[in-house]
Amino acid sequence: MNKKKFQSFNLQEKSVLVRVDFNVPIKEGQVTDDTRIVSSLPTIQYLLDKRAKIILCSHLGRPKGTIVQKYSLEPVAKKLEFLLKRPVRFVKDCIGESVKKAVNECPSSEILLLENLRFHPEEEKNNESFAKELGSLAQFFAQDAFGAVHRAHASTVGVTKFLPSGSGFLLQNEILALQKLLQNPEHPFLTILGGAKVSDKINVIQNLLPKSESIVIGGGMSYTFLKAQGFQIGNSLLEEEKINFVKSLNGSKSKIALPLDHLVTEKIDSGSKANITQDQNIAQGWIGVDIGPKTILQIEKLISQAKTIFWNGPLGVFEIPEFSSGTVACAKMIAQATKKGAFSVVGGGDSIAALNFSGCAKDISHISTGGGASLEFLEGKALPGIEALQNE
Ligand code: AMP
Repeated sequence: MNKKKFQSFNLQEKSVLVRVDFNVPIKEGQVTDDTRIVSSLPTIQYLLDKRAKIILCSHLGRPKGTIVQKYSLEPVAKKLEFLLKRPVRFVKDCIGESVKKAVNECPSSEILLLENLRFHPEEEKNNESFAKELGSLAQFFAQDAFGAVHRAHASTVGVTKFLPSGSGFLLQNEILALQKLLQNPEHPFLTILGGAKVSDKINVIQNLLPKSESIVIGGGMSYTFLKAQGFQIGNSLLEEEKINFVKSLNGSKSKIALPLDHLVTEKIDSGSKANITQDQNIAQGWIGVDIGPKTILQIEKLISQAKTIFWNGPLGVFEIPEFSSGTVACAKMIAQATKKGAFSVVGGGDSIAALNFSGCAKDISHISTGGGASLEFLEGKALPGIEALQNE
């Protein structure tokens, strides 16, 4: 991708607007997972070394164009101060007079974080005058919010009309890793998809099927696949309207690995009765909530043979510890294979949570900070926030 990298501009003592993805979980005013903040540090550190004036902007949650205090970025400023061990200024808006003043008062080598962009409805509407106001705050723009580049918003697309614009280090790394999967993966290439819905993953299945030797389908989406092959799925998740799509993949049936057995329960609740099925069928009244031991062995074999692995989506209702074994085993097996030389990419909040929970996130080759964006990238779509950046 021939997009300008931010470090190719002369940023020495310049003011730089950086779109970061600080959409992090916050509980009682405290950031509970700082992965996304930590991932933005290399770009921020580079700009500090250049003695630039650093103006950070981000969204947080879905306040839908109004001020919702629980979505304020103020706790993130505190977390960033802690991580960088230096002061971070914060201003309670992202455009307007108070922001201009705060930007003017911010000296070079200092950081100013703006309030949540989505407190203004104009952000998600990609409103031109809002984008222009954002652009008026700096001399350069760096896009580092991979998790937001699949959206055409003012801070991802609109602003690039008003400033020389390039990709930050986080975005560069995301593009490099995901492009490797699409363009030159080492084979065998194994894709593992889980999560609730087939509909979210149709395009990625279509694009990755020809490139992968095998695709493992697990989680809630696997029951629609099993139903399409004539198995009984009891009361498990089903997307009836996707059965025809699944049948259309029949030509590639040998590449698609479905669960061989399941953990089933009568009720999706902690402590409710659960059994392992004998085979792929699930009896009436039972719900599939995790893959079973035979399936784990099947996936282990595929993972240990693979040279390239992409994983998105949990293989069961992993939020309930009794139903998390398949997802946790998958996280551990991918980490193990990576240590032995495979190239692994994991995307999606749930899969990353499973990696963190199992303590093996550090072993993965690339953890994508954007679940939706990484899926759209792998669907082969052009992402508007990347397209909008200057060409090299
Ligand atoms: P997604 O956002 O599509 O990746 O789906 C993630 C959700 O899928 C998680 O909240 C899981 O609890 C859910 N999920 C995974 N496996 C199952 C299953 N067998 N039945 C119901 N939900 C599931």
